[in-house]
Amino acid sequence: MKQFNVPTGYRSGLISDIKNRRKEQDKLKKDFTPTLLDLGPIQIYLARHFGFCYGVENAIEIAFRTIEENPGKRIFLLSEMIHNPKVNEDLQQQGVQFLQDTYGKQLIPFETLTADDVVIIPAFGTTLQIEAMLREKGIPTEHYNTTCPFVEKVWNRSEQIAKKGYSIVVHGKPQHEETRATFSHASHHTPTVVVNDMTEAVELSKYITGEQPAAQFYEAFRGRYSQGFDIEKDMQRIGVVNQTTQLASDTQAISDYLKSVYIKKYQLTAANIAERFADTRDTLCYATNDNQTAVQGMLETPADLAIVIGGYNSSNTSHLVELCEAVLPTYFIDAAEKLISKETLLNRNWRTKEQFTVTGYLPDKEPLRILMTSGASCPDAVVESVIDRLASLYDVAI
Ligand code: SF4
Repeated sequence: MKQFNVPTGYRSGLISDIKNRRKEQDKLKKDFTPTLLDLGPIQIYLARHFGFCYGVENAIEIAFRTIEENPGKRIFLLSEMIHNPKVNEDLQQQGVQFLQDTYGKQLIPFETLTADDVVIIPAFGTTLQIEAMLREKGIPTEHYNTTCPFVEKVWNRSEQIAKKGYSIVVHGKPQHEETRATFSHASHHTPTVVVNDMTEAVELSKYITGEQPAAQFYEAFRGRYSQGFDIEKDMQRIGVVNQTTQLASDTQAISDYLKSVYIKKYQLTAANIAERFADTRDTLCYATNDNQTAVQGMLETPADLAIVIGGYNSSNTSHLVELCEAVLPTYFIDAAEKLISKETLLNRNWRTKEQFTVTGYLPDKEPLRILMTSGASCPDAVVESVIDRLASLYDVAI
């Protein structure tokens, strides 16, 4: 895979050595067992895959190069470039300003932008409307575009199946930048609707089958469907794509469920299901897949707790927490400082985003077994600092 020029401060010698060794031993990525870091009283099991993905490294390289290439210019990011506080803080410290927050709330009016400004498009991509607005102002969108190629792959696949007459169902968080961008691109080509989860997919299916009156759809899915969407006409043939960082198993379950609805409604078989339901399995992002599969592999190791490290807005990290907490006590932190002491830790609830203090998070046993992973936007240096912090709490050297 391409090597990116990422600031060395985000790298970790310890983690790079572990990753390189595992890569050398398992070139085909078939082994999802974790790596043991034996520190004596604590044994840390690091997931086989974690940390920066292709899209994040690509975005970081472009963003820092943009700063170097444009001394004296105003540099804006449409929103957080990736969902990691350390990376975003570093960019802000170098003068980069954010135009919107993660949920699309305006922080700096677009009206203040001029043709002399540089605007970086984040890894999640952006909407066609925002791209057009930038072009109208004379701000080029290609040179400083950090949209991940795996997100673009979803847009391209949406366009391909749209050309064959399918409408699109996007499985994603409706307010997330990437879902808003994918919705914009897909709906440019075909009727599009967003579902957040299986509950909403089931709700949508009731309008597809006619179990619910069509008129209610427009209220129930307000803000989730494309302009001119007609629930009675536009759901006759569909394809499901996702926000790339959703749980792959959730997207698969939603896709399988909707497929079963079409099989029943139109009396289809495996031989002719493609007439109504497009195969979109090839749009899943490799990093989301690898990191989630690595967590499942890690969870087969008996342990006392799990620590998941990453930004609190990060969708892919939240899903790693979700997988771990179904199996054992799990703590979601974004920095080593959240390990206040051996007794207390500042934990974050990934659903409510609330932060709260946990007491007695490190059970009194030896050796204590800790599973550890991090999200696709978390620098390895942050993971190493968490390991350092744990080692110092137990007074051991790495
Ligand atoms: S998680 Fe996947 S889609 Fe998202 S930035 Fe990384 S490589 Fe791209």
